[in-house]
Amino acid sequence: MKVDLTGKTALVTGASRGIGEAIARRLAESGAHVLCAARTKARVAEVAAAISNSGFRATGVVLDITGPDVRERVKALLAEQPIDILVNNAGITEDDLFIRMKPEAWNDVIRTNLDSAFHITQEVVKKMIRARWGRVINISSVVGLMGNAGQTNYAASKAALIGFTKALALEIGSRNVTVNAVAPGFIATAMTDMMTAEAREALENRIALKRLGTPDDVAWSVAFLASEQAGYITGTVLNVSGGLYT
Ligand code: NAP
Repeated sequence: MKVDLTGKTALVTGASRGIGEAIARRLAESGAHVLCAARTKARVAEVAAAISNSGFRATGVVLDITGPDVRERVKALLAEQPIDILVNNAGITEDDLFIRMKPEAWNDVIRTNLDSAFHITQEVVKKMIRARWGRVINISSVVGLMGNAGQTNYAASKAALIGFTKALALEIGSRNVTVNAVAPGFIATAMTDMMTAEAREALENRIALKRLGTPDDVAWSVAFLASEQAGYITGTVLNVSGGLYT
């Protein structure tokens, strides 16, 4: 199956590296004009330039999804072009055992991983509803489904994103806007690079496919959910964990 997103514009948050960068590239290679958003100006410019230099369409956008002006920034983007595909990908971890977790670590993670999806999605779906076409794809995590010691804040944010996905899907399905979540397992990115070799090996042994995922494994599932062919799929969670959690 060829995913053809020609004529569509996609906003991908957290596109300066890792999974978001791979999603941006995959959507652009499928024909979309991709707005690659993150805080690091030089990196979003580099990612967009690399995609453009390969013959596809991308624009770097500096956007702090926790900034007080996030809604205004998204409105400004929407004034320049429609956003047909929204990928809420940017996310952080601030791990600690629950009894030691500082309120700041709780609040940072919830604000970045969950509150931002509320603000950005609310602005973007208004226009999708008017256009009678849209795709919202929230990057959750299997940790939101199965839990993980040391990640109560992160697991809560990712589980909440799934509830958000399902409820919003019910509200706006009649307007031909689909809302789905992707739940990656452990993917080899900066977020997992900090693991020791022993921790990584122990983890690989728990995965049915015996390897960490790649950012492109996740990007392909996002491209599918963004496609015309996935138009009858909404309110689902696509588990991309190599069988870490089934
Ligand atoms: P990563 O390599 O750490 O990248 C995170 C991205 O989010 C970066 O582009 C970062 O860019 C951006 N970001 C962070 N805070 C931001 C903010 N306030 N405003 C705008 N952008 C912000 O992470 P990743 O591994 O690619 O993860 C991407 C998503 O997948 C996250 O939601 C994560 O929870 C989820 N996930 C990852 C894994 C995994 O194993 N890696 C597994 C399951 C789910 P700047 O720093 O330039 O802003």
